[in-house]
Amino acid sequence: MHEETSPTDPYRLPLERAYRHALRWVRGLDERPVGAPADIPTLRRALDVGLAQNGLPPERVIDELAAAAEHGLHGSAGGRFFAWVVGGSVPASLAADWLVSAWDQNAALQACAPAAAVVEEIAGKWMLDLLDLPADASFAWTNGCQLAHTTALAAARNSVLARAGWDVESDGLSGSPGIRVLANAHHHGSTARSLRLLGFGARATVRVDTDQLGRIRPEALETALAEHAGPKIVLLNAGDLNVGSFDDFASLIPMAHAAGAWVHVDGAFGLFARASPAYRHLTEGIELANSWATDGHKWLNVPYDCGFAAVRDVEAHRASMALGASYLTSATDGRDEMDWNLEWSRRARGFPVYAALRELGRDGVTSMVDRCCQHCRDIVAGIGALEGAEALHEPVLNQGLVRFTPPQPRATTQDWDEHNDATITKINATGEAYLSGTTWQRRRAMRVSVVNWMTSEQDVQRTVDAVRSVLSSR
Ligand SMILES: *Cc1c(COP(=O)(O)O)cnc(C)c1O
Repeated sequence: MHEETSPTDPYRLPLERAYRHALRWVRGLDERPVGAPADIPTLRRALDVGLAQNGLPPERVIDELAAAAEHGLHGSAGGRFFAWVVGGSVPASLAADWLVSAWDQNAALQACAPAAAVVEEIAGKWMLDLLDLPADASFAWTNGCQLAHTTALAAARNSVLARAGWDVESDGLSGSPGIRVLANAHHHGSTARSLRLLGFGARATVRVDTDQLGRIRPEALETALAEHAGPKIVLLNAGDLNVGSFDDFASLIPMAHAAGAWVHVDGAFGLFARASPAYRHLTEGIELANSWATDGHKWLNVPYDCGFAAVRDVEAHRASMALGASYLTSATDGRDEMDWNLEWSRRARGFPVYAALRELGRDGVTSMVDRCCQHCRDIVAGIGALEGAEALHEPVLNQGLVRFTPPQPRATTQDWDEHNDATITKINATGEAYLSGTTWQRRRAMRVSVVNWMTSEQDVQRTVDAVRSVLSSR
């Protein structure tokens, strides 16, 4: 019963096949091994079929792609993937993401994609509201937190240099007064890269000392601020990757402002603590910052390609991003997306966010945040209670740490590290859960990151059971 793609209805078969493959994938997440079973050479063999001279019917391309890629897919959309910080997709956002591709709008300009522009504007307002950031802040929907940082830090660069009498947009950085970046010593690599791309050499960043939980010591920031005269940016963390801790915004931000610094917050996942009455206190004072970066594709559970930057100083944001070329139609009512972010042609990524926020509502987001934090605590406590394991820290939010005890009586640091990495590999090989290693206080450990709306109490139990089986079979 071979069907041919119809010349008059060319999309029907490939889209129907994609629909079937997609539905089979998401429905099967609970049964399939969580970690991708195939290794890289196997995937190359399956997928490198050569660039053919002649094309193929689209439905056949889709069937073969789905079959060849499947063994190289992690079940990260499902409830037992706790490695790195990887969210899933709530159903309406996944479906809206399909429509984004079908509609194929270029969300650069209002004139080019009117509905996309309006939806992005609305989703941005909702996001500021949900995270309780200043309602009149400007914002940008970016492809991830990396570019949200770059966007916000470009605005910061504009502003702190303007205050020193330097117009960086016209005169560049060469010969400028120079900017010091005082950053939480545990800042994420993405902020370091954004700074580098913006022309701040790595040596412009001063690592500010933190406590055991990765929070800046207020006296260390005070000293650093006093030591460095001239334009300054302070980089704070909302949500440490290992234990989920937060900088003390309420005391650090006023201190930074008194020294004339711009304060940027990396809240890739942690900013969502603000959407929960139970965790909101961790973010107290965060609203005082000058800019914030977060992700949609992590804790909001929309498909990949979604970050969000918010900037208090609308003019600095616009001055650092807008093209101002007169041939482009400038929106007379509302915003042209390209005036606020680093892209020109771009995906209409506001639609999945809009859909997710409508599906969840405020209560849905709160409940998702609370559930993830509870599940993280339960996994860490469950594993921590097992023979051969210990909880390193009670999770502050949704990120936790455990460590495995090597069998040798007088184990060296190297024994500890090797045993932890080997145990994580064995846990992942069970196919029951997937986790990643991390280095915390110079030692290897296993990180538990829960940011998926699907994770359930059964998933917690299955994960703890899988770890128990690995520890008892050694
Ligand atoms: C994931 C993450 C980033 C980078 O975000 P992308 O969306 O991957 O670009 C930055 N900071 C923290 C704390 C993160 O967890």
